[in-house]
Amino acid sequence: MKAAGTVYLVGAGPGAPDLLTLRAADLLRRADIVFHDALVHPDTLALAVRAEKIAVGKRCGRHSTAQRFINKRLIDAAQRHAIVVRLKGGDPMLFGRAQEEIDALSAASVSFDIVPGITAALAASAELGISLTRRGVSRNVAFITPRTGRGEKQHDWARSALAADTCAIYMGVGEAQHIAATLMARGASPDLPLVVVENSTLATQRSVALRLADLLAAALPGITGPAVILLGEVYRRALPEIVAFAEKRTDAA
Ligand code: SAH
Repeated sequence: MKAAGTVYLVGAGPGAPDLLTLRAADLLRRADIVFHDALVHPDTLALAVRAEKIAVGKRCGRHSTAQRFINKRLIDAAQRHAIVVRLKGGDPMLFGRAQEEIDALSAASVSFDIVPGITAALAASAELGISLTRRGVSRNVAFITPRTGRGEKQHDWARSALAADTCAIYMGVGEAQHIAATLMARGASPDLPLVVVENSTLATQRSVALRLADLLAAALPGITGPAVILLGEVYRRALPEIVAFAEKRTDAA
């Protein structure tokens, strides 16, 4: 029997609640039930005034609900509710496991719809005031993650990173030194600039600009929030402040 409800895969954006689309806000207000990622801002969730709210993971390295179980819950919810929202950080179609949910919903003949959100790399670029592309410097952007899920076959993320003018590395901060070592061993310049942006668009946002060689030398201290690594020549303009900071430290020593 065809389910009565529709499941909406909705992008919650990078963090700040007012970066939600109007369509997403409207669906949240009308939702009967919301299954949300752990990182969604409480004020965003608060828009879902009538809905039962259920946290279903995902936070790197912490407990998260198995994807198959989430798929099943979405399908079950659509039998009982008209408007089921699956609220995901950033944009659902980028590193959000949306395809698994779409395939499961299709297989179960549940209607679904996707509402885009602002992905972390675009939000971080806006906050930094540095364009991902720039005439004469960067004409392409790669969205990359070095992370592979359990049972997933390895992929050559470094090749994509080396081929791109600018790259946004998601879920990479925990292995930042490995990323730097791999890219340098594969021919990237140690001088290549990058910016690490944590908690982008939130009051707790922090960013640090470094060169690839610095990333290899120093573990990134104290990053507990989600963070994206933006890498490429376009970030060279972010470097001088950090050089000044480094010089100051040398003076003090
Ligand atoms: N679908 C999401 C990405 C999910 S993967 C999107 O489109 O943004 C989770 C990764 O996204 C994190 O490990 C981090 O690399 C990045 N991320 C999510 N929110 C972020 C934020 N507010 N600031 C910086 N990076 C963020």
